[in-house]
Amino acid sequence: MIKITKKLTVKSSEYVTPNMKRIVFKSDDLKQLSSDQNVFYAKLKVPPLSKSILNKNKVRTYTIRHFDNTTKEMTVDFAVHEPFGPATNWAVKAQVGDEISMMGPGQKKINTTIDGWYLFAADMSALPAALAAIENLPKSATGEAFLEVTSEEDIQKMSKPEGLNIHWLIHKEPRKLSDQQLDSIKKIVIPNLPNVFVAGELNTIRKIKEYLKQNANVVNSNNVYISSYWKIGKSDEEHRRAKASL
Ligand SMILES: Cc1cc2nc3c(=O)[nH]c(=O)nc-3n(C[C@H](O)[C@H](O)[C@H](O)COP(=O)(O)OP(=O)(O)OC[C@H]3O[C@@H](n4cnc5c(N)ncnc54)[C@H](O)[C@@H]3O)c2cc1C
Repeated sequence: MIKITKKLTVKSSEYVTPNMKRIVFKSDDLKQLSSDQNVFYAKLKVPPLSKSILNKNKVRTYTIRHFDNTTKEMTVDFAVHEPFGPATNWAVKAQVGDEISMMGPGQKKINTTIDGWYLFAADMSALPAALAAIENLPKSATGEAFLEVTSEEDIQKMSKPEGLNIHWLIHKEPRKLSDQQLDSIKKIVIPNLPNVFVAGELNTIRKIKEYLKQNANVVNSNNVYISSYWKIGKSDEEHRRAKASL
């Protein structure tokens, strides 16, 4: 993770789907980033929900959905969820010209250059990372992707390898636990040493991780990323403490 703080300005702000707000940032500070920044992540410093001297900016992690190496513009997709946290609140209200600081980028979480079989499982928080990864896969990659969104209207178009099957799952109440991704994974045959990207709500991820450890040879595969991005009912600070025990 590059720790130098970068100042970003909002270039555009629009909804991609009803529950996904896309913000494109521009900044001279982004000139040092290279072309291959998709799926990397950034630490954004967002204002607290209530402003007071005691309330400092909050750090929230977001995926670089797309980095345009020509214009040096960085796209981030924010899942809009309730209750709002500081990041969601900032993103929903963001206007062209607004400023924000970022630390990073941090390293890519999955190697998308391998010509093999992939498993993806992601909710709305990990959808930007999953889609960026899928769009970067070799044409001959194969596999299964389980993508859980809040409504039919949150389904997104993407380019993908022909042999990768996309399964959209609808979970209307993200504040309630969902076993849909796990149940779907249980129905497929996972080949030896799969490439894996699984990310989303902590309780869901914990169950999927357990299942994969017991039923697929993920321990010996060196391209496996299984990580929680948030936790039901907890702020990100609380989530990170709980994650330490994942
Ligand atoms: C490496 C990494 C990459 C990430 N990339 C993205 C990304 O590209 N886009 C993205 O939207 N998120 C992404 N996340 C998740 C994001 O950091 C969290 O969702 C974060 O908690 C949002 O901050 P907040 O201030 O809005 O809410 P918080 O203050 O953290 O939480 C407020 C409330 O909202 C709930 N909540 C938090 N996130 C969600 C959610 N996704 N759905 C439903 N309820 C939620 C909490 O349980 C809590 O009750 C990423 C996380 C990691 C670790």
